Amino acid sequence: NAGLYPQGVTVLGATGSIGLSTLDVLARHPDRYRVFALTAHRSIELLAELCQRHSPRYAVLADVQGVGELRTRLAALGCSTQVLGGAQAMIDVAAAAEAPVVMAAVVGAAGLLPALAAVRAGKRVLLANKEALVMSGRLFMDAVRSHGATLLPIDSEHNAIFQCLPPAMQAGSGVDRGITRILLTASGGPFRDAPLDTLANVTPDQACAHPNWSMGRKISVDSATMMNKGLELIEAHWLFGLAPAHIDVVIHPQSVIHSMVEYVDGSVLAQLGNPDMRTPIAHALGWPQRIVSGVSPLELCKIGRLDFSAPDFTRFPCLRLAYAALEAGGTAPAVLNAANEVAVEAFLQGRIRFTDIASLNEYVLTHVNSQAASDLEIVLAADVRARDEAKARLHTLER
Ligand code: NAD
Ligand code: MG
Repeated sequence: NAGLYPQGVTVLGATGSIGLSTLDVLARHPDRYRVFALTAHRSIELLAELCQRHSPRYAVLADVQGVGELRTRLAALGCSTQVLGGAQAMIDVAAAAEAPVVMAAVVGAAGLLPALAAVRAGKRVLLANKEALVMSGRLFMDAVRSHGATLLPIDSEHNAIFQCLPPAMQAGSGVDRGITRILLTASGGPFRDAPLDTLANVTPDQACAHPNWSMGRKISVDSATMMNKGLELIEAHWLFGLAPAHIDVVIHPQSVIHSMVEYVDGSVLAQLGNPDMRTPIAHALGWPQRIVSGVSPLELCKIGRLDFSAPDFTRFPCLRLAYAALEAGGTAPAVLNAANEVAVEAFLQGRIRFTDIASLNEYVLTHVNSQAASDLEIVLAADVRARDEAKARLHTLER
């Protein structure tokens, strides 16, 4: 229905890797979308530039300290975007009726409440922020159903799986789907073949140099430890309702097959494409239609071959921890996620070794008791407890 366009879009985490890719796709479709609000943590200069280019009604800086400076900059640019500050303002622009579409692309636990606010407002929610689902999967999916939101996965693997599902299941009905397995593909990151005894001494820049994808630093480190695949395992469990025993990880170094769905008749459906997040973003924006993304066509003859192998839990202990947290259930995934956020930040700051990330995660997962995740307060309290435990333990590891 052309009368519905252009639709207002809020981009949470607009200055990040996913946020910028989203704005690139939106700008290709000015007839369909206009930007309603952009949010950022504290990148004032980039946010001002994005406001000038996309003219949103609101710009939100989560860190209130910078609000005055952003206002001054926008005034100097002659930009009429209104500036708001703080976590509540992020929630407000996520829930505002003027934006029926929300891209949730904040990194980490900070993205949970605004993503949930968009869900509770019954919107089309494009979910990049996997940590939100890892922390509060059951509550989040219950809210999607009870508020009639449309949840579309942006994570390339989950977007691929979504595209390989039967239409009835895409529309939210999960009856007798004939699905036997989900095959989550993983590149293996920059250290897939590195000698195991070199891992203790890799630098943050080496860990962030992903062979196929260009991403924010936190998810890049998660890809190097394969905690990212562990978080994605938990994400897939909640999005698609499969038990962990029916979700397998396959190492596929070329990142061309973004994931697969196996059916009871032996069929395996895969989604392929170049490793460029604008494809899943455009898919989720346009669904059930297809819209242009700016991604170049896949040249299979140039790629030549696709390889597959099984993941190694000795090299990637974080993947084993994610299976354990999912089996434990309750607040265990939120605890693991929180520990990992603390560990990755400490690694990026040069305070701990790469291999300490997994040991810190394991320590916190085994020392913070899991509870039933029956409401959001319990989940958020588990997140705080896990961070406290991780920070206390950090001091014993610091170099
Ligand atoms: P990024 O670090 O590049 O960007 C993060 C964004 O969140 C920035 O706009 C930043 O300002 C904002 N932000 C950070 N901390 C905040 C806070 N405390 N409060 C408010 N805003 C805050 O990260 P990214 O690579 O774009 O990833 C974003 C999310 O998407 C992550 O959850 C990641 O796992 C997921 N994801 C990313 C990719 C990718 O290709 N980059 C792929 C799949 C999933
Ligand atoms: Mg992914």
